[in-house]
Amino acid sequence: MEIDGGPSLNMKDPVSANLKAGRLGDALSGSTPSERVAKEDSSAMSVPCIFFQCPFGCSAIYPKSAIDEHMLGHLKRMLQYRPLEASVLMIHSLSKNKGRLHTGLQILCKYLDNVCNNPTEEKYRNISEHNKAFQEKVAPIEGARDFLQAVGFQPKKLSYKDTNMPFLVMSEECASDIDQIKSARDVLLNTQPTEAEIHRDIRVYYPSHKAEEFHVPKDFYDVTSGLQVHDPRKSRRYKYTLIRIRFPDGVLLQGTFQVEEKLSAVKAFISSMLEKEWQPFVLRDKNGKAMSAVNSTLHQLKLVPGAILDFGFNATIEAEMATGLYFCIHGPVQQEHHLKSVLMRTIKVL
Ligand SMILES: [Zn+2]
Repeated sequence: MEIDGGPSLNMKDPVSANLKAGRLGDALSGSTPSERVAKEDSSAMSVPCIFFQCPFGCSAIYPKSAIDEHMLGHLKRMLQYRPLEASVLMIHSLSKNKGRLHTGLQILCKYLDNVCNNPTEEKYRNISEHNKAFQEKVAPIEGARDFLQAVGFQPKKLSYKDTNMPFLVMSEECASDIDQIKSARDVLLNTQPTEAEIHRDIRVYYPSHKAEEFHVPKDFYDVTSGLQVHDPRKSRRYKYTLIRIRFPDGVLLQGTFQVEEKLSAVKAFISSMLEKEWQPFVLRDKNGKAMSAVNSTLHQLKLVPGAILDFGFNATIEAEMATGLYFCIHGPVQQEHHLKSVLMRTIKVL
C-alpha cells in the first residue's frame, strides 16, 4: 500500500552493513553448541536485531523497536487528507494488545450506536474526555480520538460543574446523517491491520566452521515468566529464526524468518536468490535427509532459533546430470556460484 511521499530509507540496508558475528564462549549453562545464547552484546550476535520493512510503499527498513513510530508518521500525514481511513488503520495496525483493542472498539461503536439511536439527544453527542472509560480505554488507543473526530466529534470546552472541561462534540446536523455514521462504524469494524513485513536481512558468508553457531538477540523470543527452569531454551518462546543454507561449495546464505512461516517460504526465498531461479533443488537437514514437508512451519520442524540446511539435488536431477540429460534440458551450468552475482558481491566472513 502506498499512502504518501517517496522513499525515506533512513538506515543502511543490513545486507551491506558491516557487521561481523564474533565467536562466543559458553554464555549460559545448559545451551547446546547450536544454540549458545550470549549476553546482549550486539557485536557478538549473528544479527543485531529483527528488521521490518515499511508496508506503506516507501521501502524503509527499521528495527522492530522503531517500525511502529515510522508507520505512525505515515498515518499522521494521511490523517490530513483521508482522516477516516488513516485513523482506522492506526487503531488496527498499531494496537499490540488485542484485548484492549477489542474493548476500545466496543466503546467506540457504543458512542456511534447511541448517536444513531438518539440523534436528537444532546447527551449522546457529547463525549467527556474526562470520563474514566474514555481516559483508560479509548484515549490510549492510537487513532481512536482521531477516528471520533473523523466521524464528526470535534474538540470543545463545555461547562461542567462550573468548570470548562474538554469534550468531543458532534453537531445535531452531523448526527442527523445516520448513514454516514453507520458507514464509519462498518469501516472501523471491517478494516484489517496493515502489518510491517519481516525483512530477511540477507547475508552471504564464506564457508565457515562457525556455520552451525547461532547467537540470537532478545528480539528473537519472548521469555515465559514465572518458569524456574535450568535449561534457558525452555523458558523462551521463539518468534523468529535464522536459517542458513549451505551450498555445495560451502557458501552460506542466511535469512531471518518467523517461526510460523512454512518451509515452502524458505524454498521460495532460496529460489529468488539463485542465479537460475527455476533451478530445482532439495534441502537436506543436518542428518542429510531430504526435507519434503514444505507445508510444515519452521517451528514444527524444530528449525529454531537457528538452523542450517544443505542445498542439493534430488536423485532424479543427479541422474539427469549424470547422463547429461539435465544439461540438454536446462543448458550448461556455467556460473561459478549458485547465488546471484549481485548477492555474491556482499559476501563476508562469518
Ligand atoms: Zn515508510
